[in-house]
Amino acid sequence: MDTAANPAPALRGGGQAVDFRGETHRTVLQRMGLTPELRRVETGGSPMRFVDERGRTLLHLPAEFAGGEIEVLRGDLAQVLYEHSRPHTKYIFGDSITRLTETPSGVRVDFQQGVSRDFDLVIGADGLHSNVRRLAFGPEEDYVSHLGYYAAT
Ligand SMILES: Cc1cc2nc3c(=O)[nH]c(=O)nc-3n(C[C@H](O)[C@H](O)[C@H](O)COP(=O)(O)OP(=O)(O)OC[C@H]3O[C@@H](n4cnc5c(N)ncnc54)[C@H](O)[C@@H]3O)c2cc1C
Repeated sequence: MDTAANPAPALRGGGQAVDFRGETHRTVLQRMGLTPELRRVETGGSPMRFVDERGRTLLHLPAEFAGGEIEVLRGDLAQVLYEHSRPHTKYIFGDSITRLTETPSGVRVDFQQGVSRDFDLVIGADGLHSNVRRLAFGPEEDYVSHLGYYAAT
């Protein structure tokens, strides 16, 4: 789906897991006051065991290896961040950015629905094929490298 042409009318759920691990992640979550809420919705992860044809363990991966210290489904994380920030954040759904223009005092942002607004700072957090990055830096082919994965047999 072209997200820029069809912006979501409400908070989007769904998606896969997001992992948090290590001191930096821990500190950020603590400073944001999110750790208890994320603990409530974390997946818990599960350890993995690779076995041969006789059931003998070849490799054991602890839960933290795949799931980090806290693993949360993307939709749950979005919901927690949304609820947490709602009292002091204005959310606009069903709209998308069409143009960014740097001004002496910040950035003028034109929206699809026809409104223009001035901001001190614009942060692009709109995923892999980011509309904001495209508007700021040009077509993603110019700066995203597409890596292939090869499995040795
Ligand atoms: C199969 C799979 C398994 C994964 N497993 C793991 C895992 O185990 N651990 C892990 O840490 N990560 C995992 N990931 C990766 C993880 O899900 C992503 O890294 C993470 O969701 C990226 O977050 P994000 O906020 O950058 O982007 P997104 O979660 O994609 O959020 C971007 C948001 O921007 C909005 N948006 C997009 N375009 C526009 C627009 N033009 N206008 C307005 N809004 C827009 C979207 O609606 C969306 O809400 C997995 C991913 C996949 C696909």
